[in-house]
Amino acid sequence: MEEKRAERKRAKWTKFCPKCGKQTDIFFDSVCEDCFREGITLLEPGNLEISLGVCKQCGGYFKGREQTSIEAVVEDSVRKELRKKYGLGCEVEIAELRREIEEEERRARVVLVVKAEIEGLELEERAEVAVILKRETCERCSRIAGGYYAGIVQVRAEDRIPADDELAIAEEIAYSSLDEADFVSKERMLREGLDIYVSSIECGRRISRGIVKHLGGGFSESRKLYGRKEGKDIYRVSFSVRLPGFKEGDSVALDDRVISVEKVIEGKGIKGVDTKTGKPLFLSKKEMMRARRI
Ligand SMILES: [Zn+2]
Ligand SMILES: [Zn+2]
Repeated sequence: MEEKRAERKRAKWTKFCPKCGKQTDIFFDSVCEDCFREGITLLEPGNLEISLGVCKQCGGYFKGREQTSIEAVVEDSVRKELRKKYGLGCEVEIAELRREIEEEERRARVVLVVKAEIEGLELEERAEVAVILKRETCERCSRIAGGYYAGIVQVRAEDRIPADDELAIAEEIAYSSLDEADFVSKERMLREGLDIYVSSIECGRRISRGIVKHLGGGFSESRKLYGRKEGKDIYRVSFSVRLPGFKEGDSVALDDRVISVEKVIEGKGIKGVDTKTGKPLFLSKKEMMRARRI
């Protein structure tokens, strides 16, 4: 009697999946787990339209102005799509990436694994999406081609000409201070020093700081208005880098003489000794500008 009642009670609460008829106690969105899983497609690749630019000069991938990668753009699009569809975050794993480059059209195929949790169930899906690659010239490459610059680093020395090795170091610092988007658009070797034309003001400042840190001296900035873009004034900045002048103990070459510097008289010149003859001599500021530290 007891048993029968228990059985009836259980039978009363037995539930079935309305879709497949399987007996179950656990429902997901009012169907059984299998039917629920079957009914869900996380990603319909046809709904995703992914395109990005590929620069024909440097080969970089771009979304708008931002440099990116195929993987990053695909992940981002998939995440957005799932958020839109199910209002949830998901995990995207790129399993494989193939670039198919044809003459006319460039595209890439990306195989990915999407993982998401819906109604407390872990769902995993493999999908393949196509990415259209549009050929373009990126901003950086078109600027390089156009000789664009926003800053000039002018390397000079106080009352003397910078030595060749100093300029070589300055140049090295310039190239190693470049960010991904930066570039040196040109260099001009002048009698009094070196001008380095760079793509951004920040980059010019970074280079100037680096040179001063390594070689001493200081730098100042002056900006010049050179145009307007989108309602904003655009400036070009000159960085005047001054390496320190001659100092006591330096050996200096002038014409065919080598002079040992004994005293620097600020604004006037230097007192020194001709190392060959031992004779004391004085170099005027004008003469100093022809002399080189050796
Ligand atoms: Zn079912
Ligand atoms: Zn480019």
